[in-house]
Amino acid sequence: MKYSVDERGYYGNYGGAYIPEMLYPNVEELRQKYLEIIYEPSFQEELQSLLRDYVGRPTPLYYAQRLSEKYNAKIYLKREDLAHTGAHKINNTVGQILLAKRLGKTRIIAETGAGQHGVATATVCALAGLECVVYMGKIDTERQKPNVARMQLLGATVVPVTSGSQTLKDATNEAIRDWISNPEDTHYIIGSVVGPHPYPDMVARFQAVISEEIKQQLQEKEGRSNPDYVVACVGGGSNAAGAFYHYLNEPEVKLVAVEAAGHGVDTGFSAATSVLGTLGVIHGSKTLLMQTEDGQIVEPHSISAGLDYPGIGPLHAHLWETGRAKFYSITDDESMQSVVLLSRLEGIIPAIESAHALSALNKMELKPTDVVVLNLSGRGDKDLATIINYLEDIEKPHGE
Ligand SMILES: *Cc1c(COP(=O)(O)O)cnc(C)c1O
Repeated sequence: MKYSVDERGYYGNYGGAYIPEMLYPNVEELRQKYLEIIYEPSFQEELQSLLRDYVGRPTPLYYAQRLSEKYNAKIYLKREDLAHTGAHKINNTVGQILLAKRLGKTRIIAETGAGQHGVATATVCALAGLECVVYMGKIDTERQKPNVARMQLLGATVVPVTSGSQTLKDATNEAIRDWISNPEDTHYIIGSVVGPHPYPDMVARFQAVISEEIKQQLQEKEGRSNPDYVVACVGGGSNAAGAFYHYLNEPEVKLVAVEAAGHGVDTGFSAATSVLGTLGVIHGSKTLLMQTEDGQIVEPHSISAGLDYPGIGPLHAHLWETGRAKFYSITDDESMQSVVLLSRLEGIIPAIESAHALSALNKMELKPTDVVVLNLSGRGDKDLATIINYLEDIEKPHGE
């Protein structure tokens, strides 16, 4: 079985580039040039130096002793929460900003839901001195004021999108419209392993630094570079793609993908795409997505903003279909228990997204000799208001 993208941009039955005719030149330019540019020695030199000195890589691989005792297995945390800006997203935006410069682009656009990708994009635009425009649903700008303030402080223009449901998919449509109107000077930075080919492959390659480091670090700590399990949460799937990347063709390493069940997969308030999704086209690629019978996207729900996405990237749809990765869905409540658990056991407050991956440990049948690497995609500082509200709510007597 092949898990890398083919010449046509497909992972098995999933992927491709389903884009309006007007967008073809932009995407085609990228498709023709991305591999050549990113493997050029001078590009790699600049990328590696930024990953080290700006992002703070390699991020540690931490043996979580108290967590290991609780689950009776050897559990390592890959500390993406310690990367600059607090999550893995920066690995991709640093790569894409260097690519944009090589392509001669002077203006960057992005879409953002909760604002995390917008912040990671605004950050690298400041770093590179490029103009930055971030499209964000108007409702999201109201829900995520601190991230709007961060982007503005970093010098980005945040455009509130008032069409449709005023959330992520409308922001995406607006970003695509902008790109069509500005094909010469503008690069569109997509934040996950989604979108038309070559984005899923390109973003996976930029995130692959995660598993490249895990291999080396685990070799040093355990005398073997392959763990028994790699566990990661999946929104669009970029942190999981990065954590899985160098293990895709090593079948003895079991891959575990964790989605957000929201209130529960059968409640109508969920984001568990591998359970609820069907084949369709979203964001320019053919993949699994949550949709009605007539193809309208169903609004997802998750307490974690980063997993609140109605599709999964085509790589993950393929990993699901082939059984290469095992998928679990974790509810809002389960994830919040893991936020508290990791805070108390290890002194690490995880992002609510990453806490979904932690909750999967409760569902896996682990042996004491098992070595588990769990990708801690981000830190929980951004989620503090959500966490406080949640804990206050469950402490109230029922019905209040
Ligand atoms: C955005 C985000 C995610 C989800 O995105 P993926 O592309 O699935 O990785 C997960 N964790 C954190 C901390 C995030 O910010």
